[in-house]
Amino acid sequence: MLHGELILVALGGNALMRRGEKGTYQEQYNNIVATSKHLADIVEQGYKLVITHGNGPQVGATLLRHAAGQKLYGIPAFPMDACGAETQGFIGYLIQQGLRTELKRRGLDKYVITVITRVLVDKDDPAFENPTKPVGPFYTREEMERIRQEYPHYVFVEDKARGGWRRVVPSPDPKLIAERVAIRNLVDAGFVVVASGGGGIPIIEEGYVAKGVEAVIDKDLAGERLAELIKADRFIILTDVEGAYINFGKPGQKLLREVTSSEARRYLESGEFGQGSMYPKVLACIRFVEAGGKEAIIAELSQLHQAMKGEAGTHFRLG
Ligand code: ADP
Ligand code: MG
Repeated sequence: MLHGELILVALGGNALMRRGEKGTYQEQYNNIVATSKHLADIVEQGYKLVITHGNGPQVGATLLRHAAGQKLYGIPAFPMDACGAETQGFIGYLIQQGLRTELKRRGLDKYVITVITRVLVDKDDPAFENPTKPVGPFYTREEMERIRQEYPHYVFVEDKARGGWRRVVPSPDPKLIAERVAIRNLVDAGFVVVASGGGGIPIIEEGYVAKGVEAVIDKDLAGERLAELIKADRFIILTDVEGAYINFGKPGQKLLREVTSSEARRYLESGEFGQGSMYPKVLACIRFVEAGGKEAIIAELSQLHQAMKGEAGTHFRLG
């Protein structure tokens, strides 16, 4: 890899919360401090860096805070798009604090800037007819029915294993990152940019009016769109496994070290990758190299350095 290249890194849930943690402010801050050491290595080597991140547990907690605030104090709960914006601000702040501190410690005079990012989706996306993504708290049947009277358009599914009903929302495909030009300009001005957090805030456009919608965009697919639009050289997804495996969790499990986009598509179609976890990551990597990106990588968070040298992770190339 060449210094001066632009790299977009997508952070998974483990960058902010580890297994067994409650998600206290201090836990999340400490995890970002640890993550920042890996990210600062990239900046120190002279790469331009854009960071995106997930927000599953955080937006879940924010939705609960709003629901509890309404119940206990009559403070009106906000819709999902507003809760998504809150988590982009909160997580962006953590990264600004943690990464800026680490950069300063190394004598690098670079600032980290968070862009509240909206992502345009198609109002006719088939996902709107088929909500699949569970969000927010578990409800009893009575609670669920009460909520349905107030919000008849809400869809709930029963989770028998965990005993309760849960709201599901659509997960539409990201079409366009609204703030792409501002993000690219910030990169060119020398800033490290945090953008499209939690997959971005989904919006639809009706004429010139933009409206937030109650949906969740996959963060890896949105990160890929952003990487494409700002012409990133490399797209790196950091997660809690070494890379994409075939026969995952079965006899004959094998880590894919290097794959072409067409090979990866075959594995995708034969069901090798978990829906909602590894599937969208592999799809995002295929899209990136097919759109002209040099390379896409899926790697374990702490192996970023080795992955960039080609010694760890799954590497995708066009072919
Ligand atoms: P993140 O928060 O990083 O997006 P996810 O849980 O969404 O993490 O995705 C990573 C998970 O994908 C792994 O922990 C693993 O359990 C799961 N997974 C499903 N299929 C595969 C596969 N074929 N290879 C590797 N991991 C897989
Ligand atoms: Mg995920």
